[in-house]
Amino acid sequence: MNGLMMDYPLTLAHVLDRAGRYFPKQEIVSRRPDRSIHRTTYGEFHRRAGKLANALRRLGLASGDRVATLAWNHSRHLEAYFAVPLAGGVLHTLNPRLSAQDLAYMVNDADDKIILVDDVLLPVLDKFRSEIRPRHVIVFGHGATPAGALDYEQLIEPQSADFDPGPIDEEQAAGICYTSGTTGRPKGVLYSHRALVLHSLISALPDSIGLSQADVVMPVVPMFHVNAWGLPFSCTMVGCKQVFPGPCLDPPSLLALLAEEKVTCTAGVPTIWLGILETLDKNPGAYDLKALKQMVVGGSAAPPAMIEGYEKRHGLHILHAWGMTEMSPIGTICRVKSQLRSAPAAEQLRLRATQGLPVPFVELRAVGEDGPAAWDGKSMGELQVRGPCIAKSYFQNPAEEDKFTRDGWFRTGDIVTVDPEGYIRITDRSKDVIKSGGEWISSVDLENALMGHPAVKEAAVVAIKHPKWDERPVACVVLKEGQRASEDELRRFLQPLFAKYQLPDAYVFMEQLPRTATGKFLKTALRQQLKDFKFSA
Ligand code: AMP
Repeated sequence: MNGLMMDYPLTLAHVLDRAGRYFPKQEIVSRRPDRSIHRTTYGEFHRRAGKLANALRRLGLASGDRVATLAWNHSRHLEAYFAVPLAGGVLHTLNPRLSAQDLAYMVNDADDKIILVDDVLLPVLDKFRSEIRPRHVIVFGHGATPAGALDYEQLIEPQSADFDPGPIDEEQAAGICYTSGTTGRPKGVLYSHRALVLHSLISALPDSIGLSQADVVMPVVPMFHVNAWGLPFSCTMVGCKQVFPGPCLDPPSLLALLAEEKVTCTAGVPTIWLGILETLDKNPGAYDLKALKQMVVGGSAAPPAMIEGYEKRHGLHILHAWGMTEMSPIGTICRVKSQLRSAPAAEQLRLRATQGLPVPFVELRAVGEDGPAAWDGKSMGELQVRGPCIAKSYFQNPAEEDKFTRDGWFRTGDIVTVDPEGYIRITDRSKDVIKSGGEWISSVDLENALMGHPAVKEAAVVAIKHPKWDERPVACVVLKEGQRASEDELRRFLQPLFAKYQLPDAYVFMEQLPRTATGKFLKTALRQQLKDFKFSA
């Protein structure tokens, strides 16, 4: 027998309408590129999102059309977050830090019909503009708009603020993010309205991020990194004040916003928080952070010394989280269970540096070589996940089917242990990638490029632990007999092919590379050989 509940779809239309109707005076604050502060309200944001949705329809946006954004965190970007899916489109956020080659690939793969771009990011767009064919380019501007593009304000100004999206199926696609995590071409993860709404509900729970209407939330994690971990959606759902740092991501600018806007919850990758900790240590008491209840850290492992440094020296609480683009993205959050809060401080710190427990509706399993890994905190296994906010395949990419198991789980490529309480700890990655400051670098792409140099016989690129960036790439190179190539020459050779942050920090010349029985480069042995490697200052 079925229940007798209404068939009410979980869509972003409800999230936006509720915020506009019940919290019209709630503030949304953004820092502009010229560092000035822009203030608006949910009431105004609701109206402007309606105008943008009408404008997009006028421009011919059809159901399912992809609309790209190339933009920092600000309130106009938030308008697009809602207007695009309400108008039937699919929001495709682009990461301006990627190479022009990758950006062009993603825009073409997604077949983006419209691109919304920050005026300060037009030089990034210019680098791949000739390789893409969007119908319209709309500029989030603060001055003159270049020829051939539309000005955002002029476009939405004459439109009606009333927008009727009509019925939206909760399974309809609302957003797409590309992940360039593993080797090969970036892959699109296509989120439905339902997944984004469920993710908002799950992440707002008190034992997840814990969001209330009374909070003030500043996502430092960019809106182009898995939808700023879903915060623009979850914050709008609960109706809390949102603060956006724009392009000003240096520690003093971020600290000033945290203090002046009385932020209660902020979120970003460890590299950002390491920079902020250093600034706070140098200027103790310079910023009033009394309102700040928690700093969510994810994207890479939170170092225990950083968790302890914030807590002991500044009374600030780090909340460690793990997730993936394929998971919308939150998978686990680390809060100490009430039964474990009487444990000694050192034990609690050890626990808080783990990736934590799964949030509701994320199922985890660690699969070792001989089946499920025991919950003993020692046995390792590949972390596999399933749930309603987790991708079941990639956009137009059947070649990646091996990322999904036959019995319906997603293989994360992270290697974990699980302790007897269920806390997971990531110990390694089976995927051949390097994560530096929250951005991916493909070791295989670098190796392939290096092996294209006439003097290079073999090259393997490995991740080496770095105090600021978490990991940095180091290239191990074997030259062909009788050939020469300096570190400088190899660097110049790679430069045009990669974004600057993706280039190896160092080149180590070797006689030969260690290999596995099947002839693959043995990265674990290389990492072991380089364990005492020091980056030059
Ligand atoms: P992305 O899809 O770019 O969000 O990257 C997801 C990957 O980042 C995960 O599979 C992990 O390898 C890594 N990652 C994310 N959060 C953490 C964390 N808290 N600790 C360690 N690794 C993390």
